Amino acid sequence: MAYDIDTIRSFFPILKQKVYDKPLIYFDNAATTQKPVQVLMSLERTQNDFYGNIHRAVHYMAGKATEEFEMVRKSVQQFINAGSSDEIIFTKGTTESVNLVASVFGEQFITPGSEIIVSEMEHHSNIVPWQINALRKGANIIKLPVSETGELQTGILPDLISPKTRLIAVTHVSNVLGTVNPISQIVETAHKYDVPVFVDGAQAVQHLPVDVQALDVDFYAFSAHKMYGPNGVGVLYGKRKWLEQLPPYQGGGEMISEVSFEKTTFSEIPFKFEAGTPNIAGVIALGESIELLQEIGFEYIMKQEQELLSYATRQLKEMEGLRIYGEAPHKSGVISFNIEGIHPFDLGTMLDKMGVAVRTGSLCAEPLMDFFNISGTLRISFGIYNTKDEVDHFITALKKATQMLR
Ligand code: PMP
Repeated sequence: MAYDIDTIRSFFPILKQKVYDKPLIYFDNAATTQKPVQVLMSLERTQNDFYGNIHRAVHYMAGKATEEFEMVRKSVQQFINAGSSDEIIFTKGTTESVNLVASVFGEQFITPGSEIIVSEMEHHSNIVPWQINALRKGANIIKLPVSETGELQTGILPDLISPKTRLIAVTHVSNVLGTVNPISQIVETAHKYDVPVFVDGAQAVQHLPVDVQALDVDFYAFSAHKMYGPNGVGVLYGKRKWLEQLPPYQGGGEMISEVSFEKTTFSEIPFKFEAGTPNIAGVIALGESIELLQEIGFEYIMKQEQELLSYATRQLKEMEGLRIYGEAPHKSGVISFNIEGIHPFDLGTMLDKMGVAVRTGSLCAEPLMDFFNISGTLRISFGIYNTKDEVDHFITALKKATQMLR
C-alpha cells in the first residue's frame, strides 16, 4: 500500500470542513463520494490547459483533449479487465447506462410476452428503465426475490427462467443491504439458458476488484461520482457481440459515419452509443480516481472497509431495539438500520447536527422497503477515508440522539 490513512485523508480537502462547528464525519459514501485533489486539479487542468472538443478538429487543443479522453477509456478497460476499449461506453452515470441498454436491447430483443428478470434488491435505476421498456413492448418483469438476511434467492433462478426470458438485471452490491451478490453463479446459470446478464456495479467498483471477463457478464454499469470521481460521468461495459448487434441509443454528432437526408450510417462501437459532446473534463478526471484506487489497492481498501464494517456492526448490535437490514456473510461497507420507535429521519437530522452525514429514507429501493415492511431506514456507508475513530464518534452521537428521541 502506497499511502497510510492520514495521507489518504489529506487528499480530500472537504474532510477538513466543520459542519455546525463539528468535524465532518462523512458516512454517506454510497450516495456519492468526496473528490480528492487529484480529481479536482484534473478538472481544472483540462479547462485551463487543453480544452477543445474531442474527435473533431485538427487543432492542438482538440487533439490533446481527445488523446487524454481516449486514454481514460483504456484505463477503464484495464480497471474492469474488459477485453477491448471498444467495449467501454461513456455515459452520464449508471442510470443512463441502464436506460441505454433497456432502450436498445429492448428495441432489438424484447417482444410482447418477453420476460425480464429483475432482482428485488435493485435501486430504482435498475428497475424503472426495464419497466418502461416492458410497458412499451408488452413484456413482463419477473422478480428474483430476496431472503430475510438480505440475500438473493438464486437457487430458484432456474425455475424463474423460461423460454420467454430475455435478460436478467441484477446489482453487484446492494446500496441498502451491502450484500455482495454471487454474480459468477448468476451468470453461469443464466448462460446455461442463453440469457444475458446486466449488472449494476454502482456500489461495487469502489469497494472490490471487478473483472468483467472473469465474471462473464454481458453488461456492467457504474458511476464515477461514487468512486471518488466527478459527477455527470458513467460507464457502460458491454460485450462486443451485444454492442455490435444493438441499434444506436441517441442520434446526433459523433455517433454517425455518414449522414444525408436519405440515409444515415452509424459509427463503429463505442462511438455509435456516444452521441453529442460528452463530459470531456469529467471523463479525463475519472482517470485520476481510477489511478488513486489502483495506487491504494483493493487489498487495502477491502481490509480497511471490512474492519470498519465489523467494528460498527458489533457496536450497533449492542444497542437496544436496533435492527440491521442485510446480514449476508459477504457484505460491503454499508449498514442500514432502524431503531424501534424512532423515525430514521429524526435520527438522521440529529446526527447531522452532531457533524455526522448519513442517509435516511427509502434509499431509492422501495420494493426492498416493502419486503422488510418499513417506510425507510438510516444508512451509513464507508469510503476509503473513514476511520474507527469516526465510527466511535458516530456511535456516541447515535446513543445521544436515541436518548433524546426516546
Ligand atoms: N444503482 C445503485 C445500486 C446505486 O446505488 C445508485 C446510486 N444511488 C444508482 C444505481 C444510480 O446511480 P446514478 O445516480 O449515479 O446514476
